[in-house]
Amino acid sequence: MKNWPLLGSVTVLLVAGCQSTVSNQQSTETVPEPELEDNDPIEDEELNDQSEEEGTSGPEEVIDEESEEPEYMYEINDVLWTVEPLEDVESNVVLATFDDAPDTYSLEIAETLKEHDVSAIFFVNGHFLETEEEKELLREIHSMGFEIGNHTMTHQDLKLLSEEEQREEIVEVNNLVEEITGERPRFFRAPFGSNTDYSRELVAEEEMTLMNWTYGYDWESEYQNAASLADIMVTSEFLQDGANLLMHDRQWTNEALTDIINGIRAEDYEFVDPALIK
Ligand SMILES: [Zn+2]
Repeated sequence: MKNWPLLGSVTVLLVAGCQSTVSNQQSTETVPEPELEDNDPIEDEELNDQSEEEGTSGPEEVIDEESEEPEYMYEINDVLWTVEPLEDVESNVVLATFDDAPDTYSLEIAETLKEHDVSAIFFVNGHFLETEEEKELLREIHSMGFEIGNHTMTHQDLKLLSEEEQREEIVEVNNLVEEITGERPRFFRAPFGSNTDYSRELVAEEEMTLMNWTYGYDWESEYQNAASLADIMVTSEFLQDGANLLMHDRQWTNEALTDIINGIRAEDYEFVDPALIK
């Protein structure tokens, strides 16, 4: 029996019958209506796959499609949700993730991350991608080099939905993100970490990697201010090799971010590039 990385004082639901899943109830508090800054329109970069190289000297003929397999160095542990080395690379890494994006603070969060050269995944909800302004916002975050993950269309508990509804919640986000950014999400995180056998199958079918997280605090009332959030994110006993950090598009998270980054680096951890994760 493994030790679960239970999160602080989070409400922990042990989900009976669901394969080794520890779900942590995220708050569902309402966030004020997003007021989007006006975004400069960015040229929509078309991703062309037409880079076939003729006449390569390899033994096998390469026929269309990208021939370059990305070289992954890490994978997500599907029980603990940690980031683990696939080969002989640094293990003292952590993964930064931001859920319920792109709402009010995602762009500022992305800018702060960029300023500190930190890679991250933004897990997006389709209901934040309805207007042209919202789509432009996502395009901008994506063009800054951030990984866009799937967090479902409307942030419902998948366990309460029919298979057909789960399919819509998941596949529609992939279609939407691909339409906006030219790239399909590679990572999936269920709202509340609540997965079903069917959603797991579907996520695999969509060739995504599923993950929950190992720790996070920004939805708990005592950490809804920058100072205490920055402190707990760095002093948490769950800050360990491969930690999968859950944060949200929230004001206090945005305000605490620089301190969180500096604090975690001072503890000798580096932020992993999601592009290196299988
Ligand atoms: Zn969420």
